[in-house]
Amino acid sequence: MSPLRLFRRGNDSDAEQPGDGDFEASTGRALERTRSSWFGRVAGLLSGGDITEQLWESLEEVLIGADTGVTTTMEVLERVRAADPKRAEDVRALLRAELIALLRAPDLDSGRASAGRLWGAPDAEPVRPPEVVLVVGVNGSGKTTAIARLAYAYQQQGQRVICAAGDTFRAAAIEQLQQWGERIGFDVIAHRQGADPAAVAFDAVQAATARGYDVVFIDTAGRLQNKQHLMDELAKIRRVIERHVDRGPDEVLLVLDATTGQNGLSQASAFTESVDVTAVMLTKLDGTAKGGIVFAIASEFGLPVRFVGTGGGEADLAPFDPERFVDALLGEPAPAEA
Ligand code: GDP
Repeated sequence: MSPLRLFRRGNDSDAEQPGDGDFEASTGRALERTRSSWFGRVAGLLSGGDITEQLWESLEEVLIGADTGVTTTMEVLERVRAADPKRAEDVRALLRAELIALLRAPDLDSGRASAGRLWGAPDAEPVRPPEVVLVVGVNGSGKTTAIARLAYAYQQQGQRVICAAGDTFRAAAIEQLQQWGERIGFDVIAHRQGADPAAVAFDAVQAATARGYDVVFIDTAGRLQNKQHLMDELAKIRRVIERHVDRGPDEVLLVLDATTGQNGLSQASAFTESVDVTAVMLTKLDGTAKGGIVFAIASEFGLPVRFVGTGGGEADLAPFDPERFVDALLGEPAPAEA
């Protein structure tokens, strides 16, 4: 039997979810700041009946202020306007639909060069284990914590997880992953500081194949000083994976810190230019008042957000669902006037 497929997303919002958490509630809690400071204002703006030029300007201001990005905001509002809404509540419904469509677009883009094999379309062929996930992102983005959370979620589903401590540049990164491994109970392959990351990946994938692990997570260094170096390193790790499992990584997960806003997006481009990123985990959503960055990632990078980090613990992870996310942001529609 093929291994349990975790985190299947796509259009099937009822797909089986990992762990026993209430993801809707935790996403809602993580979005509280964003909602109270930015998107809550959208609800306020749209609670009046009439549509004025001032309304469009205020919507623009709110969306840009929430890190949605200027281009994305303009495009979304233009499409809403083009639908010729007559009342503010129509604007709300159109805006909701546009934002959901924006977040779904990366999955519907069949021409996307790099679609992941694990968390994408529900009808994707199961892969032969071990599933291999390469994890990239700048230092401090929450990469190690992200790996620990995913490992925890997979283990909750009875899968055996092994991780490669591939950020060999920092001794602390190796130790941190080992500590998470001890705490949660997943195995970690680590070499000494300064070792070749591809050699660590090699050992981890080899161990996974030989000893029947279900999933391998490969941590990588998050230095951006030298993009050529980053590209070479990631290409070498990819070749190591290909040698063992006859294919590249099944997912390349980019971990992004939601609190870094537009600055985080420019860091992201360094990674998307170096490796075929297939999925995004947005961490620290609980720590920002500007969750609009989710929309910028989808529209500017064409990348699907698959997970959000909702706190610092191992269980603070929620699969990302466009519809639920937008509903949590916009809140309930205003009650119809009597
Ligand atoms: P790395 O350098 O990219 O591996 O980052 P770490 O995994 O060490 O995380 C950096 C810090 O961010 C740690 O203190 C984490 O506890 C914290 N962190 C990571 N993800 C989240 C999140 O989703 N929410 C919050 N509040 N803190 C997070």
